[in-house]
Amino acid sequence: MATTNEKKGAAYRIGIYPGTFDPITKGHIHIIKRAVKLVDHLIVTVADNSNKSPLFSVEERVELVENDSAFLKQEGFSLEVKSTDDLLVRFAREQGASVVFRGLRAVSDFEYEFQMTGMNAQLEPSIETLFLMASDKYQYVSSAFVKEICRLNGDIEPFVSKNVADHLKKAL
Ligand code: ADP
Repeated sequence: MATTNEKKGAAYRIGIYPGTFDPITKGHIHIIKRAVKLVDHLIVTVADNSNKSPLFSVEERVELVENDSAFLKQEGFSLEVKSTDDLLVRFAREQGASVVFRGLRAVSDFEYEFQMTGMNAQLEPSIETLFLMASDKYQYVSSAFVKEICRLNGDIEPFVSKNVADHLKKAL
């Protein structure tokens, strides 16, 4: 099958977790921690989408994700971070991925995710989108709010790692 690699006779399942990650939050990390256990290899995919006018460059966002997810590699999980400016499903197919993970927070995420999943399914029916619900603790955490709180000199460390907080304070 085109979307799974064969390794030692068993299906080797590759998943991707795409997002803007501007910057990565503890909510994203919680999704990554859970997604990496569901596949043999997880590619956290940082979207190089200038139309969203991100605060951090794609290189910075990749570096921040790499830093925050390094502990999972140390725990033995197979994970890498890549960026793409390509169509998500095309990127997923090129990477041999069969699963796309997305996180769901409030009902407000649903409409957008529903449309995106439907369109992606038409473009590439063999790639399945799996939704992981945000945990109670991170339900309200978003990169946008974290940036806003940081701009107003609020405490952002409950929501992002120390490394991300330092980068945010420098950037804003
Ligand atoms: P995008 O621009 O693709 O929405 P984001 O970086 O904002 O990029 O989000 C990437 C994915 O992570 C999305 O599926 C989003 O719903 C999910 N996500 C973001 N914040 C959280 C959170 N606090 N808990 C769970 N999922 C989240």
